[in-house]
Amino acid sequence: MPFPRTHLEPEHEMFREQVRRYLKTNMSAKVPKWREQGHVDREDFEAFGENGWLCLWADEEFGGLGISDIRYDQVLQEETIRWTDIGFFHNAHSMLVGPYLDRFANPEQKKSFLPGAVSGKTIMAIAMTEPDTGSDLAAIRTRAEDCGDHYLLNGAKTYISNGIIGDLFVVAAKTGDKRGQIGLFVVTADMAGFSRGRHLKKMGLPVQDTAEIHFENVKVPKENLLGDPAKGFSYMAECLAVERTMSAISSLSHAQAAFDVTLEFIKDRRVFDRPVGSFQNTRFIMADLRSRLDSAQAYLDQCVLLANDDKLTPEDAASAKLLCSELQGEVVDAGLQFHGGAGYMDEYEISHMFRDARIARIYAGTSEIMKEIIGRGLGLGEKDLR
Ligand SMILES: Cc1cc2nc3c(=O)[nH]c(=O)nc-3n(C[C@H](O)[C@H](O)[C@H](O)COP(=O)(O)OP(=O)(O)OC[C@H]3O[C@@H](n4cnc5c(N)ncnc54)[C@H](O)[C@@H]3O)c2cc1C
Repeated sequence: MPFPRTHLEPEHEMFREQVRRYLKTNMSAKVPKWREQGHVDREDFEAFGENGWLCLWADEEFGGLGISDIRYDQVLQEETIRWTDIGFFHNAHSMLVGPYLDRFANPEQKKSFLPGAVSGKTIMAIAMTEPDTGSDLAAIRTRAEDCGDHYLLNGAKTYISNGIIGDLFVVAAKTGDKRGQIGLFVVTADMAGFSRGRHLKKMGLPVQDTAEIHFENVKVPKENLLGDPAKGFSYMAECLAVERTMSAISSLSHAQAAFDVTLEFIKDRRVFDRPVGSFQNTRFIMADLRSRLDSAQAYLDQCVLLANDDKLTPEDAASAKLLCSELQGEVVDAGLQFHGGAGYMDEYEISHMFRDARIARIYAGTSEIMKEIIGRGLGLGEKDLR
């Protein structure tokens, strides 16, 4: 039995039941179609919207539930991964992009952008990474030139999640020549000069559409600037602690699911006339993973409580992301090994899990950058990392 999780209240478990019932009945069966076509459907976002599950934090005046308790987002993500697929990026929409609108949008901006985000009619994405720079965000080249009543946006972004189905992009762009002088802009896909590049083919995560996007003389109205045009870098640093907590939640939920899939398989599969799980090697590795999954879960749940109180430091969020994504990699690798040849076959879920897991140590900040951030907290590292 997994270690009891005392940070959840009965209402979170009731929410879990409700989400689980819906996903099992209405969405689980869609996964093969999503994998085949390389994205979820707009109606899937809208279905989440109708259930009230997008941008839970948004105020009622924008159609939201006004729930700023990340435990609900955690439960939603755990169930999504368990019953559908880790590549359904509603969580990026609500908890990676959404917080920029929540924290930095003015009342008019909230009025114009949030109702669509809450209903799922507007799918959101975040565009920071560029062909020449990812980890070193201060070095981006996309430029927003102040032209009086608008900004003129030129540049290119890559590896953008929800990039094909997305309607609204929070875009990081340079607003001056100083290193790290960055502004954040809301760019919608219907603006002249906005275009999508390739729908990128990947080794895993087929359900999530990852794309290039281009800006050629896009006139972004001044009303679409979020906050201060020179403070985008610190805004990103502020939001990344929650982004990394969410990323850790995805990793650990995925690892827990891979563990369970493997446990079931090794109890059933017989080799040399005994279950694979009865070999000491299998038992020891599974026991080791069980204890580390429980420890990681206890740490992550505590991070969620701290994030709820706005007390989670960037260093602790980086630790959670590092710990959970590295453990995820170990669990899917061991799980695949215990499946033998079956683990390499598409028809076994562990083979998808193995491929889908690899990116977790890279996006939302690589493991090396997480270590740099933790090291910086020890007084040992570089200052302008986010
Ligand atoms: C499927 C997918 C989805 C993504 N979604 C999005 C998205 O929605 N929006 C978005 O903006 N971006 C997105 N990304 C981009 C992702 O965040 C970047 O790929 C990631 O931050 C790494 O940047 P990079 O690819 O440029 O690698 P690089 O920065 O070029 O890093 C290359 C290697 O150098 C190492 N390295 C870099 N700096 C240091 C250092 N100081 N010390 C030690 N080692 C270092 C890295 O750890 C890595 O191993 C996505 C990427 C993928 C693959």
